[in-house]
Amino acid sequence: MYYYSTNKQAPLAGLEEVVIKSLAGDKGLYMPERIPLLDESVIRTLKDKSFHEIADLVAQAFFGMDMEPDVLTEIVKDTLSFETPVVQVTDSIYSLELFHGPTLAFKDVGARFMARMLGYFIRKKGINRQVNVLVATSGDTGSAVANGFLGISGIRVYVLYPKGKVSPIQECQFTTLGQNITALEIDGTFDDCQSLVKAAFADDDLNRHMQLTSANSINVARFLPQAFYYFNAYAQLDRAGKAGRPTVCVPSGNFGNLTAGLFAQRMGLPIRHFIAANNRNDVFSEYLNTGIYTPRPSVATLANAMDVGNPSNFARILDMFDHNHSAIAQLISGNRYTDEQIADTLRNVYRTFHYMLDPHGACGYQALADRLQPGETGLFLETAHPAKFKETVDRITGEQIEIPLKLKAFMQGRKQSIPLEKSFDRFKAFLHGEK
Ligand SMILES: *Cc1c(COP(=O)(O)O)cnc(C)c1O
Repeated sequence: MYYYSTNKQAPLAGLEEVVIKSLAGDKGLYMPERIPLLDESVIRTLKDKSFHEIADLVAQAFFGMDMEPDVLTEIVKDTLSFETPVVQVTDSIYSLELFHGPTLAFKDVGARFMARMLGYFIRKKGINRQVNVLVATSGDTGSAVANGFLGISGIRVYVLYPKGKVSPIQECQFTTLGQNITALEIDGTFDDCQSLVKAAFADDDLNRHMQLTSANSINVARFLPQAFYYFNAYAQLDRAGKAGRPTVCVPSGNFGNLTAGLFAQRMGLPIRHFIAANNRNDVFSEYLNTGIYTPRPSVATLANAMDVGNPSNFARILDMFDHNHSAIAQLISGNRYTDEQIADTLRNVYRTFHYMLDPHGACGYQALADRLQPGETGLFLETAHPAKFKETVDRITGEQIEIPLKLKAFMQGRKQSIPLEKSFDRFKAFLHGEK
């Protein structure tokens, strides 16, 4: 399979190049030349398959021609060491729980898959030059990427995070690992961290000396595997006699998750409609409603992993629909929620249905509740475990949420991080010194 750039100014590239480089030379995002279609008869048999089998089916359709199929099967198995159960919340609303992985958020799936695929290509090519993954984080991405890439040979991960602005629970998930993971505590904001990473990718001198890559959802191997759990969710609904054509609601920030859902639908998964749930950072909802896209700086909200003012995967969505606004708006609706609304939803759903949402899932639940028509089945993605946002969730519910053992284990580790000023010259000198 060849991949083209959404900017159409870069040459086609093979999977290996796409995964190693992340971004095309013209700064566009890579897209597969063709989206494989699964036969209706295959969709009908999903309910008889395990998560591994379903994921393997999807993975082989995209990547099977570019690597040994049995190696790919192993990567899929190794990635999915946990389940993504569908849990009923109300008569018609189901939660797809994506927080049963090592860092308790959905990004574990993409991060683990990408780490293994990149590791494979490095071994296969006999690249003796280290590949360096740079990732800026306000919390969730850093922990998923650091844990996903931990111990993969040939790859070094640098996690840049803003000093004092990441919760202690989140910080310990990427600062206590050691091995090939280096945490850089930047004296600045999340935007400063992001600027340093962007400046590094744009620096010719640095790129000549080091192989740099991103583990953001711009990378095909990070976002596409997220299609696995849409198929698995459908299989679970089908087993419960509830498949039909569900409406699927995705709490969105950079829109990697929603894009993976669109891919699943193009592959033949019968999804009726998508809802993009936003917090106050609603440039996408605004685009759906007005046809005008106005990126702007993000504002801080309770659902902070969705505080994105210029979603990177917007380019992929436009490309999938040939920039046709009405086609996009026909398939996807958008809703936005303020912090007060997020808190109300979280509290009400806990009191009424005894289901504990996290602030991101709360946007997803509420958008479904607001849009679902009588007789329809709705599925929202619960993207993180509520205990990851303990201070917020406890304050809203007035109770103490228990911290899962997996999280507690991180909190017992020793923090190791390197303090760094936010100047690019310092960051560059640091990276040079690391070689
Ligand atoms: C990253 C993240 C999101 C947003 O996902 P995108 O793919 O960037 O749209 C939502 N919820 C949580 C908990 C996240 O960590």
